[in-house]
Amino acid sequence: MAVLPNRESQLLIDGKLVAGSGGTYTTINPATEEVLGVAADATAEDMGRAIEAARRAFDDTDWSTNTELRVRCLRQLQTALKDNLEELRELTIAEVGAPRMLTSGGQLETPIEDLSVAADTAENYQWATDLGYATPQGIPTNRRVVREAVGVVGAITPWNFPHQINLAKIGPALAAGNTLVLKPAPDTPWCAGALAELIAEHTDFPPGVVNIVTSSDHGVGALLSEDPRVDMVSFTGSTATGRAVMTAAAATIKKVFLELGGKSAFLVLDDADLAGACSMAGFTASMHAGQGCAITTRLVVPRARYDEAVEAAAATMGSLKPGDPNDPRTVCGPVISARQRDRVQGYLDLAVTEGGRFACGGGRPADRDKGFFIEPTVVAGLTNDARVAREEIFGPVLTVIAHDGDDDAVRIANDSPYGLSGTVFSADPERADRVAARLRVGTVNINGGIWYSGDMPFGGYKQSGIGREMGLAGFEEYTEIKAIATAAN
Ligand code: NAD
Repeated sequence: MAVLPNRESQLLIDGKLVAGSGGTYTTINPATEEVLGVAADATAEDMGRAIEAARRAFDDTDWSTNTELRVRCLRQLQTALKDNLEELRELTIAEVGAPRMLTSGGQLETPIEDLSVAADTAENYQWATDLGYATPQGIPTNRRVVREAVGVVGAITPWNFPHQINLAKIGPALAAGNTLVLKPAPDTPWCAGALAELIAEHTDFPPGVVNIVTSSDHGVGALLSEDPRVDMVSFTGSTATGRAVMTAAAATIKKVFLELGGKSAFLVLDDADLAGACSMAGFTASMHAGQGCAITTRLVVPRARYDEAVEAAAATMGSLKPGDPNDPRTVCGPVISARQRDRVQGYLDLAVTEGGRFACGGGRPADRDKGFFIEPTVVAGLTNDARVAREEIFGPVLTVIAHDGDDDAVRIANDSPYGLSGTVFSADPERADRVAARLRVGTVNINGGIWYSGDMPFGGYKQSGIGREMGLAGFEEYTEIKAIATAAN
């Protein structure tokens, strides 16, 4: 069994665990503010070596065409992750501040399970499609369309669900035959360091196929967008950074795959169980302190029952006190950093300036002097024009907005620069379907359905991104299409 990092995590470059040329930097526990230990701090030179290794592994080995090897390596990685599950769980709770209850789902166990989806897809994928014989422009021709790996993928990820996002990129990208350099978020280097260690010590991935480069410097990740040796950037993070990635990638016309921010709406239609729906909205907005890109943070309710809706959401959110993520009952842990806590607090102050009122919460919990905690907060009294209703806060904050019927609810939901997700609650599933069809978003939950799964595509419309992660679509993002025409004599 591997000893996962407890004092120092390392980089994985060209098949070897190595120290960072920039020394180390600290990683901290957001629930206690204690230093957990240190992580390798990569420099631009380290990143250059990682890109070079990935380039060489793609160009000079049979990785991209050896499906059997790729599937074997991915399955070994899955086994190694499962064998070290409990250590990974403790590490994730400590470094991410992820509530323990979430580690049995999307925060850890589900993405590990979903690695088989990537391996199975590669194994069963129809890499070539025969379009048959034809005579275009009078020339007898046999035609084929084949899918191939894109090449070297630069993957850049955030801190909120590090395993989910790291594995949802690594799995399909490697399964499709690419080589890869992962640059995780500076706040969660150990989650990525653990992956590096397991890959190095428990799998047959050839040197250079997968490289993991942690750094305290965002600029080191930015090199992936610029470097001509990188064929594709797969980025998850804020819309502002996604824009910078896309701009930098334009110089070399890289393929760009973006999973960005959201400000998703939870629509309660006038025939729905209002109290049940609003309570669920409150629970969802509090989970992992609201640090989920697809969390519904605008609760859109019938105007005639606005006060009742606010009360129901506040009853739930007010009862979910921010707590120790180690405690299996905790739903709302800390946010990741002091910076993030202050950012959320800034939005709470703004809510008051904009004329809103707090139905519960509104700031830092009085009973916690350590840790980056924010109370689950319901903001009432604002319209969809308020900045608090338009901008991504990434904290446990739910803004309740009144609607005047289904058309108005759809208008409000779509009146956003984002288009990541949405929820519709109605007693009539067909009515809910009609509303769902009009939402300009990549995922929809109707009456509590779960869209998150390894075989379902995930991604956003509008400024929430380009492309889809997971599912068959997520695998094909990491492929190029080649059309081959052979003269038939
Ligand atoms: P962020 O955009 O600040 O950082 C994300 C990553 O980008 C980090 O690894 C960071 O080091 C790197 N980075 C920063 N500047 C860069 C640059 N100029 N070039 C290249 N890389 C750079 O995001 P965050 O604060 O870590 O995460 C929160 C954001 O991520 C939220 O906006 C959230 O909605 C979004 N998110 C989106 C999804 C999704 O799938 N749509 C999932 C999770 C999080």
